[in-house]
Amino acid sequence: MNNINTSKRDGASKTKRMGTVKRLAGYLLKRKWLMLCALVMMLVANLLALIGPKISGSAIDAIAEGATDFDKVFFYCALMAGFYILSAAFSYVLSVLMIKLSQSIVKSMRREVMDRLLTLPVSYFDNHPAGDIISRISYDIDTVNTSLSGDVLAILASFITVVGSFVMMVSISPVMLLVFLITIPASLLFTAYKTKKIQPYFRKRSGKLGELNGYAEEMLSGHSSIKAGSREEHVIDSFAKRNENAVTAYYDADYHGCIVGPSVNFINNLSLALISILGGFLFLGGGITLGNLSSFVLYSRRFAGPINEMASVLTELQSAMAAAERVFRLLDEAPETPDKPNAHVFDSVNGDISFKNVDFGYNEKGLTLKDITMHAAKGKTVAIVGPTGAGKTTIINLLMRFYDINSGAIELDGVETRDAARDSLRSGFSMVLQDTWLFDGTVRENIAYGNGEVTSEQVEQAAKAAHIHDYIMSLEKGYDTVLSDEGGGISKGQQQLITIARAMLSDASVLILDEATSNVDSRTEELIQRAMLSLMKDKTCIIIAHRLSTVKNADTVLVLKDGAILQQGTHETLVSTPGFYHDLYYAQFE
Ligand code: ADP
Repeated sequence: MNNINTSKRDGASKTKRMGTVKRLAGYLLKRKWLMLCALVMMLVANLLALIGPKISGSAIDAIAEGATDFDKVFFYCALMAGFYILSAAFSYVLSVLMIKLSQSIVKSMRREVMDRLLTLPVSYFDNHPAGDIISRISYDIDTVNTSLSGDVLAILASFITVVGSFVMMVSISPVMLLVFLITIPASLLFTAYKTKKIQPYFRKRSGKLGELNGYAEEMLSGHSSIKAGSREEHVIDSFAKRNENAVTAYYDADYHGCIVGPSVNFINNLSLALISILGGFLFLGGGITLGNLSSFVLYSRRFAGPINEMASVLTELQSAMAAAERVFRLLDEAPETPDKPNAHVFDSVNGDISFKNVDFGYNEKGLTLKDITMHAAKGKTVAIVGPTGAGKTTIINLLMRFYDINSGAIELDGVETRDAARDSLRSGFSMVLQDTWLFDGTVRENIAYGNGEVTSEQVEQAAKAAHIHDYIMSLEKGYDTVLSDEGGGISKGQQQLITIARAMLSDASVLILDEATSNVDSRTEELIQRAMLSLMKDKTCIIIAHRLSTVKNADTVLVLKDGAILQQGTHETLVSTPGFYHDLYYAQFE
């Protein structure tokens, strides 16, 4: 049974591998003219180089023929130089072509990945760490590319060289080929040994390096918590352990790997010695000329080279296949389900929101939200409160249609959001989240972002309304100050004010707010409060509330626990009845 399973799995992975090869070949075939040129160049360059040793042999024979005919010797030398120069020229053009070919493939692969990323549902990003996606765009695509341009050509060139050298050797002296009966099996045995015995050490080495990198990355991102918790010594110890593991793995791999160079040299030299002995006898017996013997030696070198290299090229190809599979897996991810054919397009959004008996689960494991029913009339404010993990963020995810619900209905202005075009639906909302998102650009660009064409005056007005104008003006370059992508250099509170200013520019009639829990100084806190209030004016607001004033001012407070609505009402009514909100209120706000 086990065997059947294993062979089934092997079969499946073989089919998958073939699929990957076919897809990769597709990229090459799309550029068939460039590829064809490259192949011709490679063929010509290698064939020209193959003629060299034969001519060198003729030159030697011309010397050895007793009365040396120098004209003949010079002719052969010039001819040889000519062939080598031509071969080098073709190789040069080939390299340029390959750079062009591979860069064009990289460019289109990256674009395909980016295009696909933009169509993927939010769930994909919730389940895949950014680092992993980035490594597919950069590292994996690069690996595929290096292999496509380097290894594929290397294999073809090796093939031409091996076959060509073999043919030349047969034409010179079939008897001397007997030497390879000893050296080729030795090479093959050695290659098999190398792949079987040494590869695992290299795989372990990459794994240990990955662990070390992962740990270093974790520690770097958490450095302030480490300092705050005085955990430095613990970190140094764990790092030292991983460092030691990595070093051991490197030592093992290199120790077993260093046997390769000397062994390859030994096999090569052995074949040289055997050829020399056999050739010597043949020469004495008049079976071969000195020149042909010399040519044979040169061809034997060329013949053995690619066979020795095959093991490492095959390993590289394997890692390229693995990388290609990772890239293709991303390209094959199902995109967000398309809008319905006659999807409703909102011309303008009034801002009346209702949830009707909504059930939702992120996966088959269970429901995250159960039977949610609520209503936010136009211009009203709903504050959602509840413990961590209650499902507050999930409600926002559903409202924006980042995920589709299992059952029930979510309506905006009486239209089921499932029947609406996503873009027009989402343009009806503006969001201010806890995790402020600023990008590498000027303050002005950051505020204007996502709001279409806006004038500098409008940006400044928004900044004034968000109470961040004075701060921006105090910066040396004002609105032209460049913010780094992490918003570095300005405080959390100021980052929030900038995102509030961004939302101010939006004319969306529904505002989604995830109130920040991060501590800011009381002056900034007050500014944020005031900015939020003016942002909320005349809009329907759905707020994940953390501030007392927010719940107090809300038209409805929604109390969520374990994905269900526990209580619903105004702050006054809820706080005066004994129950979950009453307890939460006294624990959290008072
Ligand atoms: P809150 O915002 O109230 O803290 P969330 O809405 O973020 O809670 O999460 C509610 C529940 O759903 C939690 O148990 C959380 O683990 C789970 N959850 C959140 N996002 C995902 C996701 N992308 N995939 C699976 N489960 C998720």
